[in-house]
Amino acid sequence: MSEELRAQVEALIPYKTVRKGQLELALEVAKAYAEKAILLARYPTGIGKTAAVLAGALASGAPKVVYLARSKSQFQAPLREVKRLLERGISVPTVVLVNKKNYCLLRGALPLDYEEFLHFCRVKRFTGACPYSSEFEDAEIPVLVTPKSARSLGAKLGVCPFELAWKALRKARLVVASYPYVFREDLRRLLVESLGTPMDVLMLVVDEAHNLPDHIAESTAIAVSDATLRRAISELRAAGIGQELASSLSNLLGYMKRIKGAEEGVRIPLDELTYLVPPADEVKRVALALEKLTGMYSSLWQLYAFAEALRRASHEYLVTAVSSDGSVSLKLVLINPGKVSREVFPKVRSAVLMSSTLMPAEYYVAVLGFPGERVREVSYPFVWSENVDVVIVKGISSRYVERGEELYRRYASAIDYIFELPSTRRALAIFPSYSFMMGVYPYIRSKPVIIERRDSTIGSMLGKVLELEKALLLVVARGKFAEGVEFTVLGKSLIDTIVIAGLPVPEPSVENEKLYELLQERLGDRDLAWKYVYLYPAFMQVVQGIGRGVRSEKDKVKVFILDERMIGEGEKYLSMYGLVPRVGKLPL
Ligand code: SF4
Repeated sequence: MSEELRAQVEALIPYKTVRKGQLELALEVAKAYAEKAILLARYPTGIGKTAAVLAGALASGAPKVVYLARSKSQFQAPLREVKRLLERGISVPTVVLVNKKNYCLLRGALPLDYEEFLHFCRVKRFTGACPYSSEFEDAEIPVLVTPKSARSLGAKLGVCPFELAWKALRKARLVVASYPYVFREDLRRLLVESLGTPMDVLMLVVDEAHNLPDHIAESTAIAVSDATLRRAISELRAAGIGQELASSLSNLLGYMKRIKGAEEGVRIPLDELTYLVPPADEVKRVALALEKLTGMYSSLWQLYAFAEALRRASHEYLVTAVSSDGSVSLKLVLINPGKVSREVFPKVRSAVLMSSTLMPAEYYVAVLGFPGERVREVSYPFVWSENVDVVIVKGISSRYVERGEELYRRYASAIDYIFELPSTRRALAIFPSYSFMMGVYPYIRSKPVIIERRDSTIGSMLGKVLELEKALLLVVARGKFAEGVEFTVLGKSLIDTIVIAGLPVPEPSVENEKLYELLQERLGDRDLAWKYVYLYPAFMQVVQGIGRGVRSEKDKVKVFILDERMIGEGEKYLSMYGLVPRVGKLPL
């Protein structure tokens, strides 16, 4: 790597001092672009990885960088760096692309959910009722286009802020976008067209990429609700056309009412639905006629989008009935995320996936179809891994087949033993599921116990922990207290002992079982498929759990993994984070 590039990268990290690991990461990112690589950057939070990745991406010469984010804080991170660069006189034209409602200037949009808002916007545009929907020539665009800055400029110029942001893409160097803009085919096509840059020169950055397969599935899901169907029926009845279609929709509504759905979704066979949902062409034909007659946007278009997606759906999709707040929706979800990611990652020049807990490279090749020869890995040792003492306990496992009173007792007595150790003050026990935790809980003798309830809040849990000198916290893996919560005071962790109370293997949900089936078929290997769908995600949760105990270099934590399935493959997994577990026994 040349001195010139090094100097360039350093200049793009907008801080007085460059932190340990930052320069190396930035150089790896620049190198990845030069070598057309997909870089898996396993870097913890708190070392300034966003600044490093952006510096590397900008120094690499990539004409455009698309940075994918999900949560509010993930969106804020790159924007903070862009502002700091601007303060140093380095201008990086940036556009934030989130959902359209965030840009809208009409007050009526505020109380609407997103589906209703899209309908609202289409009607306003279609009927000319939105004063901001007219075409406009290029405007003077600020360096940083966020929903807020676009709204104020849009109001001043009398143009739609979303259109403004969309126009700004052509001159942007950095686009901070939500996942659907890249993983939904229609939006991706529009994005690439508006950027004016072909995909094979783009650099793609995915922040907090550890749940990438789920996020891809989520961003490509398409749903139709009973409310939309009811609205479409009323529109048809009022216009006096499409009576046959209206009666098909009534049948579909009746079916949705009968199956009711569930919060987590009830699986519906694809072919069963194919008979019930009217053909997409028919819906389109009637929607056009209706629009011509009424001059209004029709709800049938939402049904059309669903019917069209259903028509194209292969066996890699799943339909579920989801109920929420008394309403039922049919949701079409892609189970094999590789189908979409194959259209993205092999086609961009370079990509960087960053997270503190990424899977090994083989997972991304097998599950997401990354081209193996282009994948590189760079890992920063687990933050202060020398402060983590990990013991994997032999002779105990939370396998489904072994679950019962006897096993719950054994787990409870192991937890009591650990809690009584003189070194333990505040222990966090993480269970694979709520039901497993509730099975073990009655046998735990240790006191005081703070248990995660379905309605517990972060504030209430933290308040209780702060009040007590010694306490045992019981929480559930993948729950709100096992990921992303800081049990800290003045940056120091309150937790000194972590108990992984059973390997947090994901539930065999309809989606997981279907993915397992698809991977078995594709890889021709049951064990490998099981490893990718169940085992690796469980190991990742263990690493996430351990992370709850070490939030600064001052923290030291003892970790007890109460599941012998962690021996072997799991030890190898932990070693990616610089953790060297011992295998031991407890006097149970
Ligand atoms: S065109 Fe723009 S301002 Fe008008 S309703 Fe749609 S999003 Fe809102």
